[in-house]
Amino acid sequence: MNVASSIKKAGQFFSFEFFPPKEKKVWDNFMGKAERLADLKPLFASVTYGAGGSSHENSLDACEAIKKELGVEILAHLTCVGASENSIDDFISRLKNVGVSDILALGGDGRSDDVDSGSRFLRAADLVEYVENNFSDMGIAVAGYPSGHPDAPTIAQDIHYHCAKLSQGAEFTITQLFFDNRQYFDYVDRVEAMGFNQPVIPGVLPIQSLGSLRRIMSLCGASIPGDLYCGVEKAFKEGGDEAVMEFGFNFARNQIAGLLENGAPGVHIYTLNRAAMCERLIGSLKSDGYFA
Ligand code: FAD
Repeated sequence: MNVASSIKKAGQFFSFEFFPPKEKKVWDNFMGKAERLADLKPLFASVTYGAGGSSHENSLDACEAIKKELGVEILAHLTCVGASENSIDDFISRLKNVGVSDILALGGDGRSDDVDSGSRFLRAADLVEYVENNFSDMGIAVAGYPSGHPDAPTIAQDIHYHCAKLSQGAEFTITQLFFDNRQYFDYVDRVEAMGFNQPVIPGVLPIQSLGSLRRIMSLCGASIPGDLYCGVEKAFKEGGDEAVMEFGFNFARNQIAGLLENGAPGVHIYTLNRAAMCERLIGSLKSDGYFA
C-alpha cells in the first residue's frame, strides 16, 4: 500500500522526518535513534535527499534500512538539483527494489543555481509530471508553504503554483514548519478554495535548542512569531538548553493538539534525528487521547 492510501485509511496520525547522516561513522547512532522512533509506530517516515550536503547514496541506504530493518513505510524525498531523466529513473528503480513506492517531489535546496542551466527539471512540478508519466505506480507528495515560499512574489502566486503540482497528480502535501496554526488553516482553506482536497499534512518542528532553531530558521526561510522567539531566548538565558527543551516541548505539544483538534489529518514531525523529544511528545499526546 502506498503512503497516500495509508493516510486516507488512518485516523489521526503522526509521521517523522529523518535526514541521513553525511558520515557512515555516525550511522549506528542514527539507526539507534531511528529504532527508538520506529517503536512509536509512525504511519510513515520521510527521508531527506541531498539536504545539508548528505549524498543520494546515504539517502537510499537510510530508506532501505528504515524500511527493511525497522518496518516503517518510507516517503523518499527527491529533488531537481542536478537531476536528469537517467538519474531519476535510477533512483526510483532502486527505491522500488527495496520496496519503497512513494516520493516527495521537491525543487531542492540550491535549486536557484540551476534555474538558468537549461535542465529539464527546475521545479517540483517538473518532477511530478515526469514521475506521474513514467512511474504510474509511484505515489507522489509535494511540499507546501503556509507562510509562502521565500522565492515566491506573493502567497497567492505560491498557492497557484502549488495547485499546479496537485493538478498534475500529487496526492498529498507536507508543509514547511510554521509556529502559528492560523497560517496552516488559512493555507488549507486557500488550497481548497482552488478546488483541491488532497490532504495537507502540517510539518511541526519541536524546538530543541536555541542553536538548532537559529540554524533551521536561517536555512528554510520560515518565519517565527516575535513573542515566541523572545520566549525561547528568555528560557535559554534562565536555564540554558534544558529550559529551551522544556519550553519547546510545551509549545509543540499545544501546537499539535491545536492542529488535531481543528481538523488536521495528522502531523509530520521534524525530528532532527533526535528521539527523546518525540518520545515525550507522542507519549504525552497519546495519554491525552490523541492518535487513538
Ligand atoms: P517548488 O514547487 O519547486 O517551487 C519553488 C519556487 O518556485 C516557489 O517559490 C514557487 O512559488 C515557484 N514556482 C513554482 N512554479 C513556478 C513557475 N512555473 N514559475 C515561476 N515560479 C514558480 N530540500 C532538499 O534539498 N532536500 C530535501 O530533502 C528537502 N525536503 C523538504 C521537505 C519539506 C516538507 C519541505 C517543505 C522542504 C524541503 N526541502 C528540501 C526544501 C525545498 O527543496 C526548497 O524549499 C525548494 O526551494 C523549493 O522546493 P519545492 O518543491 O517546495 O518548491
